Amino acid sequence: MTDWKTRTKLVHSGTRRSQYGEMSEAIFLTQGFVYDSAEQAEARFIETGPDEFIYARYGNPTVRMFEERIAAIEGTEDAFATASGMAAVNGALTSLLKAGDHVVAARALFGSCLYVLEILGRFGVEVTLVDGTDLGQWKAAVREGTKAVFLESVSNPTLEVIDVKGVCEIAHARGAIVIVDNVFATPTFSKAVELGADVIVYSATKHIDGSGRCLGGVVCGTTQYIRKVLEPYLKHTGAAMSPFNAWVMLKGMETLDLRVRQQAASALALAKALEGHPKLLRVIFPGLPGHAQHRIAMEQMGAGGTVVTLDVVGGQEAAFRFLNALEIVKISNNLGDAKSIITHPATTTHQRLPPDQKALLGITPGLVRLSLGIEDEGDLIADVMQALEAV
Ligand SMILES: *Cc1c(COP(=O)(O)O)cnc(C)c1O
Repeated sequence: MTDWKTRTKLVHSGTRRSQYGEMSEAIFLTQGFVYDSAEQAEARFIETGPDEFIYARYGNPTVRMFEERIAAIEGTEDAFATASGMAAVNGALTSLLKAGDHVVAARALFGSCLYVLEILGRFGVEVTLVDGTDLGQWKAAVREGTKAVFLESVSNPTLEVIDVKGVCEIAHARGAIVIVDNVFATPTFSKAVELGADVIVYSATKHIDGSGRCLGGVVCGTTQYIRKVLEPYLKHTGAAMSPFNAWVMLKGMETLDLRVRQQAASALALAKALEGHPKLLRVIFPGLPGHAQHRIAMEQMGAGGTVVTLDVVGGQEAAFRFLNALEIVKISNNLGDAKSIITHPATTTHQRLPPDQKALLGITPGLVRLSLGIEDEGDLIADVMQALEAV
């Protein structure tokens, strides 16, 4: 099974068939499991075997199929599924940390990830934020006794690419565990294990579902970390993935590679078509040779990703005119969906940030984040071009 290529694993890995031999993965929509005897119940609570379950907050056969499938393609020993991406980020960090511990994180983070770090601060965890693209800052901040390092391998929404291998070398030299939020890299382009990441987190809500149906998250890592550190925390605090959502994610994974590669191809084509457009100050896409971390992006993903960020000339007013003129691309705030989606971060996802922090992170009034869907590439480029005319 380890010889299988990704597309084969995405369709078959982790499948557990019941006595009926069903073709499509079954939804075990059950909270609990019946034991043959009191003795069996007792034995299962002492040690749960690989095909045994106790309670859906601890594990469920459909959820387990999803966990095994994502671990198989990510190349980790194990995985634990959660109710949302944020439950995964929170679980990955909080299960590991206690008062007095030190964490170093990249400052360009999804708003809710930043909020989790603020909460950890309230409980006595010391957090140092650095410019994630500057290895010198990581080197200066990670010290003897630093417990963990946290970063988004590609930042939201300005698409800064962090040198994961470089950060891992610095962190591991000091004994720190590296936790990577890998949503923008996607499982398709992820080489996080190869680059040295210890723990990899996904919001499954994004490319894994890929059709904007369900919330979900997953944490991938070693069996030791997943079962001895993360699972005790998550199973007792309740952020379990619903079996129905796990089934949606399993079906999403079957087409993940096909979708993401098409989305990435459309993103590259759009970015190229828009480069130098008079209505745009900047076209930010890691797949363009002019991107500051283009070389790193190609080494650690082999692609630019599925999101293109644009800075429209004329600030917020012009950006709003552009959004309102789009016909195919929808105004919303998910990404990785089959439908193309555009977001104005300064007034939505990053509204909470004070102006000086927005400026520091490059979230300008004209900035828009465009997540490419799987519609016809030519139609998408034409839609963006006609909407820019309206600016
Ligand atoms: C969306 C997202 C999350 C949170 O995921 P949810 O499923 O919405 O909870 C975390 N990190 C990144 C980078 C994201 O894009």
